[in-house]
Amino acid sequence: MNNSPFLYESAEYEYISCDLCGRSDSEILNTKDRNNLIVRTCICKHCGLIFINPRMTRQWYVRYYQGEYRAQLARFKLKPLVNSDYEAAFKSATRHGMGLFSLINPYIAKGLTIEVGSSIGGVLNGFKESLNVDVLGIEPSSDEAEFAANKGIKTYNSLIEDFRENIPMASNIICSQSLNHLLSPRFFLEWAYSHLENDGRIILEVQNFRHVYKHYKYMTRAIQIDHTFMFVPETLENFVDAAGFDILFMDVDENKDKKGIGINKGLCLPALHIRLVGKKSKRLPFHKDLSCLNKYVEVFNSLEDVKGSYLYYLYKYELKKSLKARLMNMRASISSKR
Ligand SMILES: [Zn+2]
Repeated sequence: MNNSPFLYESAEYEYISCDLCGRSDSEILNTKDRNNLIVRTCICKHCGLIFINPRMTRQWYVRYYQGEYRAQLARFKLKPLVNSDYEAAFKSATRHGMGLFSLINPYIAKGLTIEVGSSIGGVLNGFKESLNVDVLGIEPSSDEAEFAANKGIKTYNSLIEDFRENIPMASNIICSQSLNHLLSPRFFLEWAYSHLENDGRIILEVQNFRHVYKHYKYMTRAIQIDHTFMFVPETLENFVDAAGFDILFMDVDENKDKKGIGINKGLCLPALHIRLVGKKSKRLPFHKDLSCLNKYVEVFNSLEDVKGSYLYYLYKYELKKSLKARLMNMRASISSKR
């Protein structure tokens, strides 16, 4: 691991065109991320896809994930996932996998189930236990891939872009909480299309950018440098449809009442997400590149409708967090003196 400090100012950046419709006409929504880094978030003025532009080059994102990523996470979760946490995290992710399975059970196919960005293999383990099928993970972190393999979840240690193994066609391909991080969701969706049997299913679980914004009432809190793409239900549906899938099921936390949120918790599903199941159709992915639906006005207006309040965010989240951190430091220093 590279332990030298990660300097964002020295990173190389690149401008990209929209990954969904291919156009280069976008509007700036925000200029910072939740860690106060200079991150420019744009919305495509045709399809409404939201993404970071310019963004670090692939080589710099690889360096970022080697160390800086964990430090950034630590600021929000206090305790990032490290080797000693894997056992507990595996159990929790297994419950998540079983919950997801029970929610989408009527829409999935029985057969080989692949997860891209499978981490320590818990979600796949949940599917394996519920569906009794072969599972296979693809995960870029070598530690996490090794742990999953030791738990009996066959896992290839690779980025999806570099994956060259000859594997059987799948019945289901899952991407849970990873689509935001990909440098090209289009690449992944095309890959999934070409590795699914006819009528095979794509299963996505993705954070809803607008819902996070609504929750914190502060758009910057919904932006993080590793979320190269940000989705709302309208653009996710648009993307999956353009990639040659028919949408069978969508579950949007943003539309739920307290009871619905309670059901989510019972199923151990992450909050503020969108869950989608699509069936591979006979339409080839992105066969009419520039004809995907125009969602720009709809998505842009829906963000304008959110009543943002930095003071609300500051009081409810930042101040509470800094008090909690101070309290923990005081407790640690008292117990070290004993
Ligand atoms: Zn676009």
